[in-house]
Amino acid sequence: MKKRAIITGITGQDGAYLAKSLLNKGYEVHGMARRSSHSGITEHRLRWLGIATLVKLHEANLSDLASLMRVIQEVQPDEFYNLGAQSFVATSWSQPIVTANITAVGVTNALEAIRIIKPNTRFYQASSSEMYGLVQQPVQNERTPFYPRSPYAAAKLYGHWITVNYRESFGMHASSGILFNHESPLRGIEFVTRKVTDGVARIKLGLATELRLGNIDAKRDWGHARDYVEAMWMMLQEDEPDDYVIATGVTTSVREMCQLAFDRVGLDMNDHLVIDEALFRPSEVDILLGDPAKAKQKLGWAPTVNLKEMIDEMVDADLSRLSGALAHS
Ligand code: NDP
Ligand code: GDP
Repeated sequence: MKKRAIITGITGQDGAYLAKSLLNKGYEVHGMARRSSHSGITEHRLRWLGIATLVKLHEANLSDLASLMRVIQEVQPDEFYNLGAQSFVATSWSQPIVTANITAVGVTNALEAIRIIKPNTRFYQASSSEMYGLVQQPVQNERTPFYPRSPYAAAKLYGHWITVNYRESFGMHASSGILFNHESPLRGIEFVTRKVTDGVARIKLGLATELRLGNIDAKRDWGHARDYVEAMWMMLQEDEPDDYVIATGVTTSVREMCQLAFDRVGLDMNDHLVIDEALFRPSEVDILLGDPAKAKQKLGWAPTVNLKEMIDEMVDADLSRLSGALAHS
């Protein structure tokens, strides 16, 4: 019999890549999607990957326990990947309570629904390197203390610890992946890598002249989403649930990442980049750098794509997306 998986956040970047990966592994893939007035549009990433008709979508919301219970009752999943969240750090200052309801309490809703309906379901929680915030060690691993610097990070910290707690309290197979930033052509346009690759493509095509950014001195450990969703699956195949850092072990500034994008199209960054104070954050995470040694040793996981390869892929995808739109206009 096919293994059955439920993915919350299936319409997001990671949800789409994970769904594709699980389908390739022979899973029956179910996704929870919240109701939208833009029906048909929210599944654009699943269509991009050619899998929109291969997954079964169920209407549910992480803030509605009953909706989660109903879907779990119907699907009887073997694995549950909790990727749904208000995931954008900047928005977490303008909508801190929504962020807490979905990104923090939503995790408890998912765990409770599983505990009540099918407690042997294996559970994955999408935790974040943002939890390290004001970093307490130059290189962060599973034992590094956390210091969240945004309402998003504080909510993720709750989600992380409630996952650990359900594992310890109820013996649930609940694992938390502390994933460092990961990107792709399917990354939301508001995140800095995609904002840059889309912006550079627009400038190259004559659709824009400038790219406005905030703090370009910030440094991140960036990997590719396609690699990172494999780590999620690997965690749930282990006999014992655990927590893992997933990272590349390389950190790069926003400035250097931006340079890679401009280099790809042969333009001079200094002719187009504008620093906008309004885009600086109330409190910043200056640098993140992860140590994925445990994931490598226990899961056999390693990243396969470096930052330059990923930025090239993203710029090329944005160029062809925008060229296609121009051709149809
Ligand atoms: P996205 O923002 O692309 O996707 C978020 C998903 O959550 C979307 O499918 C969204 O649905 C869904 N969602 C939002 N609110 C609700 C709700 N109330 N009920 C149900 N679903 C909801 O994020 P990513 O794919 O990039 O990230 C996946 C997870 O991993 C997130 O939890 C994120 O915080 C976490 N993470 C991501 C990192 C990264 O670098 N990408 C790093 C570390 C952690 P809709 O389409 O309707 O908006
Ligand atoms: P985050 O690490 O989850 O917050 O991912 P982001 O991609 O949103 O931001 C990464 C870093 O880029 C942060 O330190 C931001 O302050 C910095 N940054 C600089 N300019 C921008 C911008 O215009 N948009 C975004 N999203 N981030 C920016």
